[in-house]
Amino acid sequence: LRPVHVIGGGLAGSEAAWQLASRGVPVVLHEMRPVRKTEAHDTDKLAELVCSNSFRSDDAEYNAVGLLHEEMRRCGSLILRCADAHKVPAGGALAMDRDGFADAVTEAISTHPLITIQREEVAGLPPEEWDSVIVATGPLTSPALAEAVRAQTGEESLAFFDAIAPIVYLESVDLSKAWFQSRYDKPGPGGTGKDYINCAFEKDEYRAFIAALIEGEKLDFKEWEKNTPYFEGCLPIEVMAERGVDTLRYGPMKPVGLTNPHRPERRPYAVVQLRQDNALGTLYNLVGFQTKLRHAEQARIFRMIPGLENAEFARLGGMHRNTFLNSPRILDGALRLKSLPRMRFAGQVTGCEGYVESAAVGLLAGRFAAAERLGHEISAPPVTTALGAILGHITGGAEAETYQPMNVNFGLFPPVDDKIRGRDRKLAYTRRAMADLDGWLKG
Ligand code: FAD
Repeated sequence: LRPVHVIGGGLAGSEAAWQLASRGVPVVLHEMRPVRKTEAHDTDKLAELVCSNSFRSDDAEYNAVGLLHEEMRRCGSLILRCADAHKVPAGGALAMDRDGFADAVTEAISTHPLITIQREEVAGLPPEEWDSVIVATGPLTSPALAEAVRAQTGEESLAFFDAIAPIVYLESVDLSKAWFQSRYDKPGPGGTGKDYINCAFEKDEYRAFIAALIEGEKLDFKEWEKNTPYFEGCLPIEVMAERGVDTLRYGPMKPVGLTNPHRPERRPYAVVQLRQDNALGTLYNLVGFQTKLRHAEQARIFRMIPGLENAEFARLGGMHRNTFLNSPRILDGALRLKSLPRMRFAGQVTGCEGYVESAAVGLLAGRFAAAERLGHEISAPPVTTALGAILGHITGGAEAETYQPMNVNFGLFPPVDDKIRGRDRKLAYTRRAMADLDGWLKG
């Protein structure tokens, strides 16, 4: 069998290589460290954890990332096996001894008879003789490769900075205060004229909100991020607030073209708009609310928005250096580039977010590339599983226009029966996922 080439030996690339080799497919893994470094990695180990040493909650019954852990274990994940083997006490979270974990992944990959590691940067599109390639080069993909991918996919298809606005679950929005309406009732393409959720402020509420944004505790950009000019056009919400008390009222919070049906006699003083974020219509993002506020501060301050007092957040906002594709637009359902199908993408570069999600997409890319090489049919996991929910989101379920990195969460799953509420609802998602995953694995 001809080898599959995997570029990048991080969380996703290591998992993809393992899945391929476990199915008898030879792999050449190209990792540029230590020949060329990234701004965040410190070692030459595969699957180095660049920041925290946690894979978050390990609760497979009530938590979406815990469910993803369990699904990956059942799929024979190397990353989960090494994480379990090097676990440190962390309450309900799965946290690891970072060196023990990365050493174990490095050892498993480098001693596998079907895997060859080449320590080199792939500094452009892979040569044509590499007929099956998985690009798993992460949020800090080297500039030469990023530029080549950008040239292949088009200017708008690769971002170098994320500008993440918080996302709320629709079911947690108080629609006795908020309402559906597009500005001037204009339907956008495919819209109805009621495409946005609007949250209106009175003057005193607005002033208090601006003060909270300015006073809220923020994270700094890292030194190496400050040199990246790509976020100029997309300022954090708190920076806009600092420019003047009315800046937001004339910007993303302008109240024009909107009538609050709960108080039609009063013109709103300012309005936050929420836009649908996924095809299922379960998630809405706060338009223009990219932010460097600390997560706890975001939850506190954004619950001051009338109608969001009890909001549950599927994702909180952020801004980081992060190279990622507009995957819903340019990848097919098996993670292949539509314009160059010998190239597949995996990991954070596809716009999933987080160590576990990156490894999960690596797992799928490895399985898909192996099936292709072995002449088997590619079978995607059911959309009701955590693996299927992430895959579905990045390859078509997310809105391409507003695509930003996303963690796994229950908002990405097809909803379960509306009558099931609270903790039971989460259990219904995870039970359905496990049953469907087992059926898929048997198939
Ligand atoms: P990586 O693990 O980064 O692996 C990519 C690999 O590709 C690297 O080893 C790199 O050297 C190599 N590479 C790049 N370009 C080339 C090339 N041209 N040729 C050959 N090799 C190349 N997620 C969390 O869940 N928790 C966190 O605490 C967290 N903190 C983060 C902190 C920072 C500073 C950053 C940048 C990201 C963080 N993330 C975090 C997000 C993300 O989950 C991780 O970056 C994760 O490692 C992504 O996995 P990956 O396999 O896609 O990329």
